[in-house]
Amino acid sequence: MRILLVQPKVSAEPAYPLALAAIVPLLAAEGHEVAGLDLVFDSEDDLMERVRSGGVEWVGATVLHHNTDDVMPWMRALRTLKGVRTFIAGALPTIDPLGALARTGADFAIVGPPELTVPRMVGAPDPGTVPGVVNERNPSIEWPKHIPLDALPLPDRTVFPVDQYSYAMRSTALPYAQVYTSRGCYRSCSYCPVPALRPDRFDPRTPTQVVDEWEDLVVNHGVNSIHVEDDSFLADKHRVHAICTELIRRNLRVNWELVNGIRVDQVDRLILNRMAEAGCKRIVYSVEHLNPPAYPGIGHTITATQSAVEWARNAGMRVGGYFIVGMPGIGLPQTLISVRLSLTLGLDDANWVPFYETPGSGYAGAGTTIDTAAISRSAAIRIAKAAHLAFFSQPASFGRLASEMVATPATLPAMVGKAVELLRAGGPVPMRDTP
Ligand code: SF4
Repeated sequence: MRILLVQPKVSAEPAYPLALAAIVPLLAAEGHEVAGLDLVFDSEDDLMERVRSGGVEWVGATVLHHNTDDVMPWMRALRTLKGVRTFIAGALPTIDPLGALARTGADFAIVGPPELTVPRMVGAPDPGTVPGVVNERNPSIEWPKHIPLDALPLPDRTVFPVDQYSYAMRSTALPYAQVYTSRGCYRSCSYCPVPALRPDRFDPRTPTQVVDEWEDLVVNHGVNSIHVEDDSFLADKHRVHAICTELIRRNLRVNWELVNGIRVDQVDRLILNRMAEAGCKRIVYSVEHLNPPAYPGIGHTITATQSAVEWARNAGMRVGGYFIVGMPGIGLPQTLISVRLSLTLGLDDANWVPFYETPGSGYAGAGTTIDTAAISRSAAIRIAKAAHLAFFSQPASFGRLASEMVATPATLPAMVGKAVELLRAGGPVPMRDTP
């Protein structure tokens, strides 16, 4: 079969299509011919031309709940081409496969991890009957049998060339590459879709596999920094310690950065020092909401957060934080206290994200059903914009951003595009491509 994997445009920032790359090795092992196309770099006309002229039989894409409107026109157009079948995978099809089919016009939706399901589906006489595949004729939702991540091959890095995605984000070194070393998490935070996306909970790769992948990126792709995108990298500190030991044993000299949010209660001085010794140069905490010491509740206290920031900084890391503005149950006074406290942390990078009801999270649908005292979305956007403005008006934050832009001109186009999006949306555009 000839299969084209497509990453729809999510934001101005090119993000490595990890979910699609993870499907490639098992498709290739079964003799399928796999190509990739990313709508950040190519147009929809290019996509249609590629399908028409290349004898493509299957087109697959990852879909998020906020880009289905962009996907539907070309997905529907593909349906009119004789002999072409389409599938969607990722966060939205996993959480709401029938809704995802209706909103994109695809033929088949993949529920759960796609690595084994997609090869089975494209080889099946009746693809809709394969466990993990949903379509209009087979609407029952059956999760495929759980296969541990460490039993699956590492993502392919050739169908989507690494260097195309290596100069878009702020990074401690360039070029960088995005990776994941585990999926899932042991916790169930109310604002997070991960527990619904990963019912089998924390699912790690072994330390050897992790370091094998990083070594390949360094040696064969010239990568100087690894951006770890795990749901919960520090869910198992013993594994993280073993990864550090393996990096040191192999003398693998590469920066690595935890960019996807670490809870402040997952770190301590010892593990941060060990991580720094093994090359970890940056940590971003998912603080979400800050409370004074006497107010336990959603998020973290300022004292616990200050300690986590100080330990990481003393270990030599650059430290960032993510904050959610406008969560249900948190009114205006607590929101303003959280923003004020967050600005006192002296972070190197900070993002305030207006709350949105992520499908699959415990708060999906909550904005209109609970707690009328919580602030409105428009107020949350205004507060998030004001927080970014206050952060970048601090001389240290602005100076750091300006000097990085001068030092790494290759990142400028994507960063300007991202800044425009950030100003429009009031915070980062969510872009999780579920691997
Ligand atoms: S927010 Fe983080 S810690 Fe909480 S459930 Fe999601 S991945 Fe786990």
